[in-house]
Amino acid sequence: MSENAPSTYAVSRETVNSGGVEHVSERDQLAASLPEPSAETPLFRAVAVDARRRRSLTGKIFPRPDHTRILTVANQKGGVGKTTTTVNLAAALAQAGLRVLVVDIDPQGNASTALGIDHHADVPSIYDVLVDGKAVVDVVQECVDVPNLWCVPATIDLAGAEIELVSLVARETRMQRALRAYVDGAADRGEERFDYVLIDCPPSLGLLTVNAFVAADEVFIPIQCEYYALEGLSQLLKNIELIKSHLNPDLHVSTILLTMYDGRTRLSAQVAEEVRSHFPAQVLRTSVPRSVRISEAPSFGQTVMTYDPSSSGALSYLEAAGELADRGAAG
Ligand code: ADP
Ligand code: MG
Repeated sequence: MSENAPSTYAVSRETVNSGGVEHVSERDQLAASLPEPSAETPLFRAVAVDARRRRSLTGKIFPRPDHTRILTVANQKGGVGKTTTTVNLAAALAQAGLRVLVVDIDPQGNASTALGIDHHADVPSIYDVLVDGKAVVDVVQECVDVPNLWCVPATIDLAGAEIELVSLVARETRMQRALRAYVDGAADRGEERFDYVLIDCPPSLGLLTVNAFVAADEVFIPIQCEYYALEGLSQLLKNIELIKSHLNPDLHVSTILLTMYDGRTRLSAQVAEEVRSHFPAQVLRTSVPRSVRISEAPSFGQTVMTYDPSSSGALSYLEAAGELADRGAAG
């Protein structure tokens, strides 16, 4: 290094103080010492990848399935991304031109919140459908932010439904009947048929979840990329087999999505690899990264698809929705 290209502040001061012939300010030196942005930096690569994804995904119209696909989004573990996945996939499918219904059956009502749907205690909800036999058409609400997206809300009343259902006739098939009547009645109401119904389950395997398994054809399992991810999965699969043999022969696990993937940790990569090796046909290629924008969106009553559509979280859900739709059209 030459004398005129000092590398520390101390040398710089000397240069300036000794007559100022080579006036190099501290600020200039600091700027010069920063690495050039190049394709080698992780940030640059991430931005370039997102830009490519955005270009290939935005404005894409997804294929319609040949029948209404009813998917139950389930995992008895809490906090694995069931609700986040339900609302963002639903919004992504709707934005891509499909007609989508979200059924919230978690008493917490988080899916209703994220879709900006009114669900205070007096609002007619899935509780009235399951316990009082009300028709779905009388409780469904349209999502204001996303055209083509509808929601059956859950209110806090639903917390008691698990117990109230026990003594009712046909307690396991109440949701199936109500939902089929609504979906099959679209033409009579002068509406287009729904392409997708996504049911957001509570974190348990009680009667509410059983109702969802009986009403659906497909189970969609979000798996969080962390150490205990596979624990409890065998219990979930056993329950699905029981429902299949006794109540719903068509039920099968069609799709698995890896959520909260953290590319910086080896653990995320290991969990992802293990899940993919166990379920090669079911796991979507796209995994959803851990993203602040995804977790912020619900507090604005929005999905990340409207809150920050160009964020990498939104792009991942859009990509996952595209895979789901392509698979549905192929099979
Ligand atoms: P579940 O419905 O399975 O209980 P949630 O979808 O409510 O799980 O997610 C649990 C928490 O994790 C929520 O606070 C949610 O905002 C947050 N979360 C979900 N997915 C992500 C993600 N990809 N990145 C960051 N936070 C996430
Ligand atoms: Mg939830």
